[in-house]
Amino acid sequence: MNDDLLLRYSRQILMPEVGAEGQDRLTRAHAIVMGLGGLGSPIAAYLAAAGVGRLTLVDFDQVDLSNLQRQILHGEADIGRPKVDSAEESLRRLNPGCRIATVARRLEQPELETLCAGADLILDGTDNFASRALINRAAVATRTPLISGAVIRFEGQLATFDFRDAAAPCYHCLYGDGEELGETCSESGVLASLPGVIGSLQATEALKLLLGLPTLAGQLLLVDGLSMSFRSLTLARDAQCPVCSPAADPNRRQNPPGTGVVAPLRN
Ligand SMILES: [Zn+2]
Repeated sequence: MNDDLLLRYSRQILMPEVGAEGQDRLTRAHAIVMGLGGLGSPIAAYLAAAGVGRLTLVDFDQVDLSNLQRQILHGEADIGRPKVDSAEESLRRLNPGCRIATVARRLEQPELETLCAGADLILDGTDNFASRALINRAAVATRTPLISGAVIRFEGQLATFDFRDAAAPCYHCLYGDGEELGETCSESGVLASLPGVIGSLQATEALKLLLGLPTLAGQLLLVDGLSMSFRSLTLARDAQCPVCSPAADPNRRQNPPGTGVVAPLRN
């Protein structure tokens, strides 16, 4: 690491939990960010700023005026541009040392699994159940740790699924075939800063996971921004889960129902 890099990351390297060795781990890491909206913006910004060496940004959508209230990687001049292009430009300004790849289209399951297989972790910043279920299946199939966040109004949720542990529960164990918040912020609204809170927590989980530090794995964090209360619940694996249980048919896991019907990755 040269002097500029030592200075850039000095506040992290100073901490015994990180050190030069931990910073080097971050430099060698590859994270996938699904959705470059309200959650994906702070996720990608903090991962790039912290020195994660490689990011793959996935979002098929374009920047809209209604996004700017919370999707802080994009500006007014970016309206109409692909979100991944706008995000990439902002991140390059933040940290030119970060290698960024972009995917500006919906990903089908085999491609998503291939992408996961070449990454250290995947962060879900999408806002609809179909995308979340698809991302969960790809993460389970490739044993890629998944850090999931969701926001609506004043509420947020955060979960880390570390599939390197064969006994870890998955997103489907938690929510089944229903959506955790049951609605999207395009229908119900969201306070500007809430995705900033949850996305920053997702980035924090990602950095700790890459550094080999304790994470939220096995728990669900519930955030109520109105009463400003945080509480966590213990997650249990569903022994009958069709996605992650050992009894789940591996062929079905590779070709789950719904493959080919990839929902939009909006936020
Ligand atoms: Zn499961």
